[in-house]
Amino acid sequence: MRDRYYVSVDVGATRIRVALFKSSGEIVQRVEASTPRENPEAPSRKIIELIDSFKPKISMRGEILGVGIGSIGPLDLKKGMISVAPNLGLKEVPLVEPIEEKLGLPVALQNDCTAAVIGEKYFGAGKTFDNLVYVTISTGIGGGVYVDGHLLVGKDGNAAEVGHFVVDNRWNLKCGCGGIGHWEAYCSGRNLPRFAKILIEELKAKDSEKRYLMKRCNRDLTRLTAKTIYEGAEEGDPLCLRILEEVSDLNARGFASITNAYDPELISVGGAITLNHPKLVLDPIIRGIGKYLAVRAPEIKVTPLGEDIVLYGAFALISRSIS
Ligand SMILES: [Zn+2]
Repeated sequence: MRDRYYVSVDVGATRIRVALFKSSGEIVQRVEASTPRENPEAPSRKIIELIDSFKPKISMRGEILGVGIGSIGPLDLKKGMISVAPNLGLKEVPLVEPIEEKLGLPVALQNDCTAAVIGEKYFGAGKTFDNLVYVTISTGIGGGVYVDGHLLVGKDGNAAEVGHFVVDNRWNLKCGCGGIGHWEAYCSGRNLPRFAKILIEELKAKDSEKRYLMKRCNRDLTRLTAKTIYEGAEEGDPLCLRILEEVSDLNARGFASITNAYDPELISVGGAITLNHPKLVLDPIIRGIGKYLAVRAPEIKVTPLGEDIVLYGAFALISRSIS
């Protein structure tokens, strides 16, 4: 029998990561590149180029059976494309058709968080659970959901846009999607700096209290990043810790709304902010979620699949759709 392989692709706002999987679920090789943004066709061309680089790895008697993709969204699943990618400055980015045509292989597409929860279900912490949510706290905030063993997809593949749950009516910040008070508008890597600046003004922080952050930002708070704030909190800076108190309360509201909506047994959490600062992110959520809950609290923990979770999910997506 010929050796069977699958290709799995994680299309992010900054990087495209591609892995060659054996049908057993073992990663044989991985490659990555910056996500190109010259034109809507550039990302699929780059993916094809990266897949071609696997050829020497595949034995004479081997063959690739299909390609699974987990991509930033929002997606148009019927057309197999990213409908708008504000972070890339692109619209209508085709993924399925160009790869199917060029490589002559079946291609399966889901949004990255949906792919991630599939990865968690088949390879990670979710194997024994029928009610499972995956949440990423990274540049943005997103989720993927299983209820009673069923993957939630929705009419356009956007059934679990948890980053756009309303968590605030005090600051009423506008989200990138245009909505008001959305979780992602406060606690995502992209938007945390803006929220932090508002809090710093509101707290009337003295110069001495701002010393750490001013030093890290070269005395220019417009250079503030989420990374700086989390690192400051890790080092015990009181102002950074105070900012994260508000962030953690909003995170607890987000996790409570997820729990009230989907009643999961487990919420596994990933994304760069969580993976870099697991205790700082999760401990206050676990402590604070109770007062917002109407239902029994779930277990909440960091995903064991780390930054490979979308790759595992995209592999499960394509291999299960073929075999
Ligand atoms: Zn939003």
